[in-house]
Amino acid sequence: MKVLTNARLIDGTGAHPAIGATIVIDGDRIDTVTGRVADFPAHAEVIDCAGMTVLPGLIDVHDHMANHRYDLAHRWGIDEPHSTRHLRTAAVLRQTLEAGYTTIRDAGGLDAGFRRAIDEGLITGPRLILSISIISPIGGIGDPVSPSGDSCCIPGDPLLPSGVVETLGDVRPVVRRMVRAGADVIKCATTGGASSRPGHGPKDSAFNLDEMQALVEEAHVLDRKVICHALGGRGLEVAIEAGVDSIDHGCYLDEDERHLARMAAKGIFFVPTLLVYEFHRRSPQPHVKERAIDLHEHHVASIRRALKAGVKVVAGTDAGGHGHPANAGELDCLVRAGMTPMQAIQAATGWAAECVGRDADLGTVEKGKLADLVVVNGDPLADIAVLREAKNIALVIKGGEIAKDRR
Ligand SMILES: [Zn+2]
Repeated sequence: MKVLTNARLIDGTGAHPAIGATIVIDGDRIDTVTGRVADFPAHAEVIDCAGMTVLPGLIDVHDHMANHRYDLAHRWGIDEPHSTRHLRTAAVLRQTLEAGYTTIRDAGGLDAGFRRAIDEGLITGPRLILSISIISPIGGIGDPVSPSGDSCCIPGDPLLPSGVVETLGDVRPVVRRMVRAGADVIKCATTGGASSRPGHGPKDSAFNLDEMQALVEEAHVLDRKVICHALGGRGLEVAIEAGVDSIDHGCYLDEDERHLARMAAKGIFFVPTLLVYEFHRRSPQPHVKERAIDLHEHHVASIRRALKAGVKVVAGTDAGGHGHPANAGELDCLVRAGMTPMQAIQAATGWAAECVGRDADLGTVEKGKLADLVVVNGDPLADIAVLREAKNIALVIKGGEIAKDRR
């Protein structure tokens, strides 16, 4: 049994912080949360949090933990030995947990072996929610074609099945193949993006409505939520109409006022992933830079309108290709885009847990939930940027176990 005392508690629900709170952890769950001094057994391990802030373990709902660069050789997995890359990924998983992120939803590229390695204790890392490979039609972002038109020269990895759909009839088998390979969630794409190949940009669509409806229906039959990469244009409309569970990137949601109204009505979450576009705005590739600059104002306007429309905005970094900067950098971006620090924290805690469908166990500090907690030096409500500095993350607890202790 562990007891956190004297905590300044931000519980992830959006409630005002409690001062002098006590949190009792029994096994892997939170047993008691009280805004005052509480009784606990004499044998309990007492952790004095005076001067520190306690938050729910943070959640990043859009990350690519096994990606480390954008260049083609890396995308194809031929730039270094597989073992080196896997160990590089394992290092990033550990660093991410130590940064206070106890749950990561991987939006493509991380295979189920990593989840198993964490479960077996071979490596340390966050709880993983995996999508395995990105599903798109021919020419979409899940189709790893080179500028010369060539396909990758090495045989596919059976742990990362191809997500390329050729016809309507392929949609359901591809979804089932992802689930067979260990997908907890289905990731698809209905538009290009900033970094996708020339000719397939943010408003170029991929998938028709029939295909997307089949994809969403099959995923839901298998109890999987659908993450949809969609930036603008017809593809964004198709994704919302088909009823995906989150629109990720969503840069041009402001261009048609029906989009956000429909998302609010259907309970679709919005995951803007602002941090990645800061990187793309400095891209040496002209088409990437131009797209990222063009979308920025729309992206910020989309977030402001989403909050007004009652659409929940959730934090995802799209980290991977642009390296693995501190995930909490996204919260900084969200505050600069117009969210309050409390909303930004909800975007990475309570709302994020709802977005990934794990709010019964994760996302808030409440009795009965899993004891995933982060203890921070400083006050993130006064300065959200304290969360992105590793030195400020004093203690990380995942499932009642101490994952990092730098007090
Ligand atoms: Zn992504």
